[in-house]
Amino acid sequence: MIYQRSSALFKDAQKVIPGGVNSPVRAFKAVGGDPIFVKEAKGAYLYDEDGNRLIDYINSWGPMILGHAHPPVVNAVVEKAKKGTSFGMPTEIETQIAELAVAMVPNIDKIRFVNSGTEACMSAVRLARGYTQKDKIIKFAGCYHGHSDSFLIQAGSGAVTFGSPNSPGVTQGTAKDTLLARYNDLEHVEGIINSNKDEISCIIIEPVAGNMGCIPPAKGFLEGLRSLCDTHNILLIFDEVMTGFRLAKGGAQEVLGVDADIVTFGKVIGGGLPVGAFAAREEIMNHLAPLGPVYQAGTLSGNPLAMAAGLAMLTELNTNQDIFKSIADKTEYLHKGIAEALDKHNITYTINRLGSMISVHFAEDAVIDFDTAANGNNDTFKKFFHGMLENGVYIAPSAFETWFITEALTYKDLDETILAVSKVAKTL
Ligand SMILES: *Cc1c(COP(=O)(O)O)cnc(C)c1O
Repeated sequence: MIYQRSSALFKDAQKVIPGGVNSPVRAFKAVGGDPIFVKEAKGAYLYDEDGNRLIDYINSWGPMILGHAHPPVVNAVVEKAKKGTSFGMPTEIETQIAELAVAMVPNIDKIRFVNSGTEACMSAVRLARGYTQKDKIIKFAGCYHGHSDSFLIQAGSGAVTFGSPNSPGVTQGTAKDTLLARYNDLEHVEGIINSNKDEISCIIIEPVAGNMGCIPPAKGFLEGLRSLCDTHNILLIFDEVMTGFRLAKGGAQEVLGVDADIVTFGKVIGGGLPVGAFAAREEIMNHLAPLGPVYQAGTLSGNPLAMAAGLAMLTELNTNQDIFKSIADKTEYLHKGIAEALDKHNITYTINRLGSMISVHFAEDAVIDFDTAANGNNDTFKKFFHGMLENGVYIAPSAFETWFITEALTYKDLDETILAVSKVAKTL
């Protein structure tokens, strides 16, 4: 495939945008080469600036769960835009989407809309701190909750009590309030809680990790966190920015049967427009301004175009709930096909999957946390990525990302993808 125009556009972009991109992973640093510039997309396909067609397994990192340019979503946005794009005043559609979200998701009474997943997680932690009147938080190495300061903390080796920032600009003062735990290691969490008695406001977690590849929670892990939180007066925050409205209408809480105290959303909830949200039971949400003392605001929060896209998306998912099973079935089919293709060529791999989230790791051992995810062979992944691209399949340009399956994929697309894996496996 030819990527001339993309490369030329990337050169221009680099002159005026840092690294040529507005979000780092897009720059292909982890896999090498120039990023692909998209011209348009429809259903399961991306069309790039050189006229190539790619089967898309990223789908804007999740939001396009029904495919690109899905007509009900596009129509809702177009019709809304004609009536004005922002007022900074209340609109009826905000209540409509809030009612629908509260009806779809278990265990939440009220929801507030923001503009990104980052904002949702940042606000959820502030709310947890305000509600519990405690400062520290526990997060897990390899879990991503957006780019706000408290979350950009790296795992040190061995037992970690105090975090150290992994981005310049995050102060030690902020870092010391973020305690790092190992995913799927309940004892580690318990140890951290015991050495920081009465100081921890919340535990924030991706209930199914999706930012170190896909890592499902081990049996009993989330249940164990729930009971530790109950014992120690800690709020449990499920970051469902990825899993929300993807694994089921009620997200991971519904599928895994564990209740969180605060839930955050992003990605699917905005139908492709910039939307995030956080939600909880009434008693917690009433701590937010203007009812309570915890401040949180946004000029464009609840923006009518964003709400129109989100409402159209949630309505589609709520009225066609077979979609969740359908995309999970497609993901299982893909899993089997990829596994057979890699087996045939004696490639070492681990595939993790839950619902419509899947990741292929070129690692021998089970991938259960950040360290085991980092054990994968990155050189093999790079070759795999570029090979798939040559064969018209776009997967995430990093070994630490999940593939997001969209309902727009047909079984013919999946077969084409499996055939591509077969061809690429020969070259690995
Ligand atoms: C994408 C993501 C975020 C951040 O959302 P943005 O909209 O990119 O700010 C937070 N948490 C999880 C689990 C995510 O996958």
